[in-house]
Amino acid sequence: MTSPMFSRRRALAAGAALGALSLAGCATTGGPSIGRVVVVGGGFGGATAAKYLRLWGGNVDVTLVDRNAAFVSCPLSNLVLGGFRQIGDVTRGYDGLKAAGVKVIQGEVTAIDVAAKTVRLADGTTLPYDRLVLSPGVDFMTETIDGLATPAAQANILHGWKAGPQTVALRRQIEAMRDGGVFAITIPKVPYRCPPGPYERACVVAAYLKQAKPRSKLLVLDANPEIQSKKPLFERAFKQHYDGLIEYRPNAELREVDAANNIAKLEFEDVKADVLNVIPPQRAAEIARSAGLVNINGRWVGVNWLTLESTAQPGVHVLGDAIFPAAAMPKSGHIANQQAKVAAAAIIQLLKGEPVNAAPVMANTCYSFVTADQAIHVASVHQYNAEQKTLLPVPGAGGVSGAASELEGRYALAWAQNIWDDMLV
Ligand SMILES: Cc1cc2nc3c(=O)[nH]c(=O)nc-3n(C[C@H](O)[C@H](O)[C@H](O)COP(=O)(O)OP(=O)(O)OC[C@H]3O[C@@H](n4cnc5c(N)ncnc54)[C@H](O)[C@@H]3O)c2cc1C
Repeated sequence: MTSPMFSRRRALAAGAALGALSLAGCATTGGPSIGRVVVVGGGFGGATAAKYLRLWGGNVDVTLVDRNAAFVSCPLSNLVLGGFRQIGDVTRGYDGLKAAGVKVIQGEVTAIDVAAKTVRLADGTTLPYDRLVLSPGVDFMTETIDGLATPAAQANILHGWKAGPQTVALRRQIEAMRDGGVFAITIPKVPYRCPPGPYERACVVAAYLKQAKPRSKLLVLDANPEIQSKKPLFERAFKQHYDGLIEYRPNAELREVDAANNIAKLEFEDVKADVLNVIPPQRAAEIARSAGLVNINGRWVGVNWLTLESTAQPGVHVLGDAIFPAAAMPKSGHIANQQAKVAAAAIIQLLKGEPVNAAPVMANTCYSFVTADQAIHVASVHQYNAEQKTLLPVPGAGGVSGAASELEGRYALAWAQNIWDDMLV
């Protein structure tokens, strides 16, 4: 990590924020509402959008709907699996958003009528909107893995890829594993939520096993030909800290599971585990599909990068993991947060009949723990290119850590606190 890289990144990110913040000066804070925005999904994208619509819009009516009563962060949830944090440490309520004037509803969104501009909830409530923000995350393509589609199979073979009850249950399985047992994690082909996440998980669970069950083994069964993010740094961590404990196998795509016996069936071999953690392939969450928004590869939502408005349905802005990303843009909480700010600014301008920012910039930083307290990072900056109508990575901006360190571990914890505050307080 070098300071020139950081100062450039900060300057660019600040530029993007300032472009949007200048709206605040123009926003009317009293008077009649300038529009109704419903936000579906209170995760990284949705919560940020709800907050900034209020902060920058002043008099936008904002209603946020999430099926969960509180936000549970995937970032840092691997530390919960390792036993180095509790689930409460990565859980935050929505009181800050309520205080900012967001109407927060706990409920399941079951249908979106884009023609009538309404959202329907499972309890029958109908919410009308002028503009809709959808940040529903991903759902799992369990049907692509034989043996995984049934509720019984999914009760035993956990993903832990949406933080919450699955994280706690997977931690219990790891704690209950015998010393000398095998923990196997399967990684789907890209694109999937959080490219470095599975390798971080391998390191953090291995850190626990090394300490508590040193005769155990951790198998990383990767459908991809190589580690997908921060490769040299993860390879170094595997060797330096977990030699003989972690075994990494590339091109190991999961075809089938024998869920009752914790067996992962790959193309050429069967792998028996004591704990089998399957991260299935992913697509935009079901509500995006049922609303007719999925228009890329049958899996993802295409968006206009100036406004994050769906290219399939007008008036619906889609954020985060559900969208087909721009070049080299990861499916991360940090990027979802940045997309939300661009979308919030654009929605306010559209509601006022003003032109939107013609040159948005987004930044990303992903930290990964490689031990209980040492972390590494990768950072990038993405700038709108008017000719190609997409965001492109800015050459020379961003970078990766030189080496893992405890200092970066502290930065990683601070990053999480800061982004949770940015979304929710
Ligand atoms: C183990 C792990 C580690 C990670 N680490 C990092 C990291 O260090 N840094 C980073 O930047 N990113 C990280 N990520 C990725 C990050 O968590 C995601 O990219 C981010 O959550 C995407 O935000 P989102 O708004 O698209 O979806 P989410 O944050 O998943 O939010 C979606 C919300 O929509 C709600 N929802 C969905 N459908 C409905 C419906 N029909 N009705 C009501 N509510 C609904 C869900 O309940 C959920 O709250 C990690 C991910 C994992 C799994």
